[in-house]
Amino acid sequence: MKKQRATRPAPKPTTCIRSGKKRWPDHKSAIAVLHLATNSRHFAHQKGYVSPRNEVRAYSCDACGGWHTTSQAATSVTSQATNPTPTRVA
Ligand SMILES: [Zn+2]
Repeated sequence: MKKQRATRPAPKPTTCIRSGKKRWPDHKSAIAVLHLATNSRHFAHQKGYVSPRNEVRAYSCDACGGWHTTSQAATSVTSQATNPTPTRVA
């Protein structure tokens, strides 16, 4: 008997009142969508074409209180400035 993969129910997006973008209800859902986009890019690359899915980051929205995904990498230095690369000691 073939082992079945547990499948998570796909999160259902609503629409942001300000931007009109897809709005995910929570961070977890937005991250799940990022994983799907990553998988899409991976398999598209294997098949020799380019996936239209470019989302790389999730962010919370002040207007709707939900989460959106974006293809723009983070430009803010606030979250990573306090985390310098650890120096490896041989
Ligand atoms: Zn929004």
